Amino acid sequence: MFKLIAVLVLLQACSQITPINKKDTSSKEMDHNEAPLSQSIKQTKDPKTAQAPKKPVYYKTKTTDNTDKVKRYCDRLDRYFSKYSWGKSSCHDYTWHHVRSSHFGNPIVWFVFGDEKDKANENVTFIECGVHGDEITPVKFCYDLLEDLKKNPNKIGKNNLVVIAPLVTPDSFFRKKPTRTNARGVDVNRNFPTKDWDKSAIKLWKSRYKSDKRRYPGPKALSEQETIFQVNIIKRYKPNKVISIHAPLTLLDYDGPQFNHEHGKAAKQLLVTMSDKAGKYKVSNYPFFTGSLGNWAGNERNIPTYTLELPNSDWHKTTRYYKLFRDAIHHAINDNLNTNQVK
Ligand SMILES: [Zn+2]
Repeated sequence: MFKLIAVLVLLQACSQITPINKKDTSSKEMDHNEAPLSQSIKQTKDPKTAQAPKKPVYYKTKTTDNTDKVKRYCDRLDRYFSKYSWGKSSCHDYTWHHVRSSHFGNPIVWFVFGDEKDKANENVTFIECGVHGDEITPVKFCYDLLEDLKKNPNKIGKNNLVVIAPLVTPDSFFRKKPTRTNARGVDVNRNFPTKDWDKSAIKLWKSRYKSDKRRYPGPKALSEQETIFQVNIIKRYKPNKVISIHAPLTLLDYDGPQFNHEHGKAAKQLLVTMSDKAGKYKVSNYPFFTGSLGNWAGNERNIPTYTLELPNSDWHKTTRYYKLFRDAIHHAINDNLNTNQVK
């Protein structure tokens, strides 16, 4: 009888092991396209070289550490995720940074992969989604990215920090019918304090955009919480590069140091590599605007700024979009844009 129980226990244990093996296989399948990573996997499995950390350090996030306000925000996000048939969001699985809230009091949260107190972490990538609330797909894109990096921390590499803000303009996303502008009717991507803002922002909005409400730059530069949030993140983390995910223009745009600038060559090479890794995704030199992030960070501050416009806002295809750009994003995270690193 005891033997029978022992056999049953053993069988049960084996059946519990199976899913873990399955998981391992699938993650390897997902990785197989990227040479540097497969090398690093081999290295960690080689007993001779495995003196250093054998297993990747999985990110443990204290899910109970979020404030009640952030917890309520995550509940709300879950409701919208199920509305778009995306399943449950993983919002509750992260301990979010939260300082600033939107006009309607929704937290504008961010999460950091890597030790932000470690000064050696010099290569910082800031990735943001949901700047325009009616661009639904980028928000899911950022959550897919968060989950990917949490499960595959070896993708982040040494001395890299990844700062992710998955929903910059929550008020607009949390509307029955989401809007491009924020709760105060401002296009937060025309509200950055670029040098020409005072002179041109309102004038251009009236003349070129015929006072289109969707493009209102705001009563003054930096008047909006969502814009202040982005400016402060960039000032705080001093990212080597910014990747801003939008939809649906189907293009990859670059603003930043030009080719002849000290870091321009590497920055432009990254643009080409990202496009190559995403099936030769269309690169377009879209103009930058008065009060836009590309103008403020890329043009005026020489921070390479990549605007990735996803193919469209069809929320049924979100997983496909993340898969398409997964390798490109991994590469970007690991590229510190030093000229000597350009391949
Ligand atoms: Zn947009």
